[in-house]
Amino acid sequence: MSAPAQVVVVGSYNHDHVWQVDRFCRPGETRRAHGFVAGPGGKGFNQAVACVRQGVATTFVGAIGDDPLGTTARALADAEGLHGRWQIRDDAPTGAAGILVDAAGQNQIVVALGANERLDPAFVRAQRGAFADARVLLVQLENNLDAVDAALDLAGVAGATCVLNPAPVHADLAADTLRRCDLVTPNETELALLLARFAGTEVDADALATLPDAELHALARRLPVPCVVITLGRHGCFVSHAEDGDRLGDAVARYRLPAEAVRAIDTTAAGDAFSGALAAALVRLAGRPLIEAVRHANRAAALSTERVGAARAMPHWEEVRARFPG
Ligand code: AMP
Repeated sequence: MSAPAQVVVVGSYNHDHVWQVDRFCRPGETRRAHGFVAGPGGKGFNQAVACVRQGVATTFVGAIGDDPLGTTARALADAEGLHGRWQIRDDAPTGAAGILVDAAGQNQIVVALGANERLDPAFVRAQRGAFADARVLLVQLENNLDAVDAALDLAGVAGATCVLNPAPVHADLAADTLRRCDLVTPNETELALLLARFAGTEVDADALATLPDAELHALARRLPVPCVVITLGRHGCFVSHAEDGDRLGDAVARYRLPAEAVRAIDTTAAGDAFSGALAAALVRLAGRPLIEAVRHANRAAALSTERVGAARAMPHWEEVRARFPG
């Protein structure tokens, strides 16, 4: 009998194909890569792996095709100790991504979401039992929005903390979906898109990381979510709570944590490392101020950039603690 899940991740699985290049291609250009690796990815799966590697019982709910990549996905989940609840679709292939990583560690990604987009909300609802002991639900936007809403419904009934990593921002995302979340984790680009959609505010995504704290906080407050944790790449992260009280234990309404000093070689899935480790830390550090969980997530994400790949690059709890004591 497997341990009841403390975190449920409802999300995507994509099989990643990663080429290391000195620089990106121009249109029409063919270049030789100096490395290639294929492995598990997809925002949901990456975050689930990041979470389970923090030593927290984790269930992953997702959809795959009835194909060899889907079989690989299930084996990889088992190897990680994830409790996989897979919908196997015969009308769409397992999701697949092509990723170029250049010498500076930047990436370019194309993805065919395949089965992920067909994750049936009824299948999600049928996983009610997986939510019985869940403390945290973690969702992203690489599935259809009805599946996301079904997951939020179950988490609401279970009283779990709802964390949304709003990636990639979906053109049809509803304010109501945001309102049902306790915490969202956009990066700069996603924050800019959310502000345009839900606050009618146009901002320059590239300028967000260096805005004064008061201005960034004021922008985050325009979103209908009590807590916004903005990931800022090499600038670390920023936390903004609603002024009307913080249910997550922090003493102040806003603060910034600088990025940890690491040798970043591949920032693919750093945001996934952050959200997955944050969900796990919300469980492991329950009752402590949120800043402790955010600090752990910031450190786990930094470590993930020292390795090539997505799910495989996720560090374990002990590694994070050993590298960044205190
Ligand atoms: P991003 O999705 O690019 O905003 O990155 C997510 C998180 O990964 C950030 O909030 C940091 O915690 C971490 N991170 C990303 N890039 C770096 C870097 N170059 N050095 C250290 N940490 C990083």
